[in-house]
Amino acid sequence: MMVCLEDDVYLWKPDHHPPSPHFSSPKTWLALNPAGPPVSWHKSVWFKDRIPKHAFICWVVAWNRLHTRDRLRRWGLSISPSCVLCNGFDESREHLFFECVFSQEVWVFFTSRVNLNPPASFMDCLQWVNSATRDPNLSLIIKLLFQASVYLIWKERNSRIHSTTTRPPASIIRDINQIMRARLDPLARNQRNAAPGSSLLSTWFRFFP
Ligand SMILES: [Zn+2]
Repeated sequence: MMVCLEDDVYLWKPDHHPPSPHFSSPKTWLALNPAGPPVSWHKSVWFKDRIPKHAFICWVVAWNRLHTRDRLRRWGLSISPSCVLCNGFDESREHLFFECVFSQEVWVFFTSRVNLNPPASFMDCLQWVNSATRDPNLSLIIKLLFQASVYLIWKERNSRIHSTTTRPPASIIRDINQIMRARLDPLARNQRNAAPGSSLLSTWFRFFP
């Protein structure tokens, strides 16, 4: 009879990683929840220098998980299908971003000033923002503008439903302007090697004086 004199040892082997005596929660999490295939639009949402809460809403919209009225009605809720921003059409993701006259006024205000013509559908537009221009400053500006527009249009839609406040597109445009300058200012300060007039903020003021 063979007797083993060594004690047994427990080893952790999450997924394809080699067995190890040390437990790793990130590796275990990934083994239990494997990441799906990357989506083609991830760089339009999770880019460097994004505004986190804007990117998050944009990600939810990209998966069409916002509680728009068309979805709520499909779940059986007896609510009006109307868009609260224009009262002329039924509310859906496509309508809100940016078929609605209200949201179109906001989005076109910015895209027309930078002489760009975005596609009409939300998903096409989401892909487009990542390759709309070769100018790196303008590229970041377009991506930030897109996410700020989505965020503030959704916020305005919610405030019309949950309170009596109603703001016109011009007021949303003013807010986006302020948000953009507040975001670009510290980023421009970090562009130490930028030639005079070629910082992010200079690019912004060239189009939005
Ligand atoms: Zn509308």
